[in-house]
Amino acid sequence: MPTYFCMECCRTTEHLNVTRVAQFVGVTRATMYNWIKRAQVHTVVHPSGRILVCTASLLTPGFARFPGERAAALAWQPQARP
Ligand SMILES: [Zn+2]
Repeated sequence: MPTYFCMECCRTTEHLNVTRVAQFVGVTRATMYNWIKRAQVHTVVHPSGRILVCTASLLTPGFARFPGERAAALAWQPQARP
């Protein structure tokens, strides 16, 4: 996973593009864009203009506002590291 400095976390964290992060959490891209719009996840804008989501922000308790989203968030686990 690509790493970038997250201004919210104040450290370098792993980031994924919207499509991949939505797949990992098990929500649609539309839901992910809603989370981004409500600032419930941290984002950085890649120089190419693409939005990248801070995966650490997905683990922050209370980021998801609705029960379904919360369940999806809790079910999500970061990929195992070798
Ligand atoms: Zn972050």
